[in-house]
Amino acid sequence: MKQELLSIIVPAYNEESTVKIFLEETEKYTAEMPVDVEYLFVDDGSTDNTMEKLRDLSEKNEKVHYLSFSRNFGKEAAIYAGMQYSRGDYVVIMDADLQDPPSLLPEMYRLITEEQYDCVGSRRVDRKGEPPIRSFFARMFYRMINRMSKTDVVDGARDFQMMRRKVVDAILSMPEKNRFSKGIFGWVGFKKKWLEYENIERVAGETKWSFWKLLVYALDGIVAFTTVPLVFSSLLGILFCLAALIMIVFIIVKTVVFGDPTTGWPSLACIVIFVSGVQLFCIGILGQYLAKTYIETKNRPIFLVEETNIKEKPEINQR
Ligand code: UDP
Ligand code: MG
Repeated sequence: MKQELLSIIVPAYNEESTVKIFLEETEKYTAEMPVDVEYLFVDDGSTDNTMEKLRDLSEKNEKVHYLSFSRNFGKEAAIYAGMQYSRGDYVVIMDADLQDPPSLLPEMYRLITEEQYDCVGSRRVDRKGEPPIRSFFARMFYRMINRMSKTDVVDGARDFQMMRRKVVDAILSMPEKNRFSKGIFGWVGFKKKWLEYENIERVAGETKWSFWKLLVYALDGIVAFTTVPLVFSSLLGILFCLAALIMIVFIIVKTVVFGDPTTGWPSLACIVIFVSGVQLFCIGILGQYLAKTYIETKNRPIFLVEETNIKEKPEINQR
């Protein structure tokens, strides 16, 4: 029987210091596994020597494939591209910095092949080595999005997960441009098992996520997976109308009974400013959804390939 294939997808953006260590370390574990392995490094428009390193690695090791973007398209695009170009019966996504421990690979593979799971995800149970303020906002975000969205977005879930081909195909069938992987993985469903591990700091190089980038990412996630903010702004509108009605009745009664209609300018000014603030806020929410719709309708490709050593172009890419 032909041995099955596992594709390891590695998004890499300015990872010259880690790709080699990553490959060496991961090979230690995959060598023992009863499956063929291919590595698919997706160079996300790196400005350092990541590409040279990858070319070099692929010359020495035929299992190494690479794909390089014409510019930085983001990790989500890299994951999507990797999936399109992967040929494996199983696919796993791993960060280049070894924060996703390759020691979990054999267990993930066992769970999928022996225990009939479709997908094995991983989550960090702590946030060691992360600034406390960042952890705080991350927690808030997960609480918020889970309350608002029907899609399960698991706190601490990593993109590090192994999937059967059918899950990969399901994910590829979602051609949206605003790709929030944590939501997409939850949205497709299938039988899933979670493995837990303690946070590991990256072996070398630096994180590419600033606080600001994370905040924008979180907002994108909310807009992509729930329309509750729109309902919220409508509710707020109704609430203000009701409050205004009560106030009108109150003022009329007060004027009729006590006279004196002209005091209260400062409070009026406050109310006007407050209500216009609320209005702008709600228009802003509307604008977010409109902007995302605009991006989707332009239907631009999710990524552009500049260079690759993969010979067969995936069919799905012709779409
Ligand atoms: N990455 C990418 N494109 C980007 C940013 C990051 O492909 O625009 C890759 C990066 O090379 C790494 C993974 O995504 O393999 C996770 O990035 P990082 O370690 O910086 O994130 P963190 O672990 O700090 O959340
Ligand atoms: Mg990392």
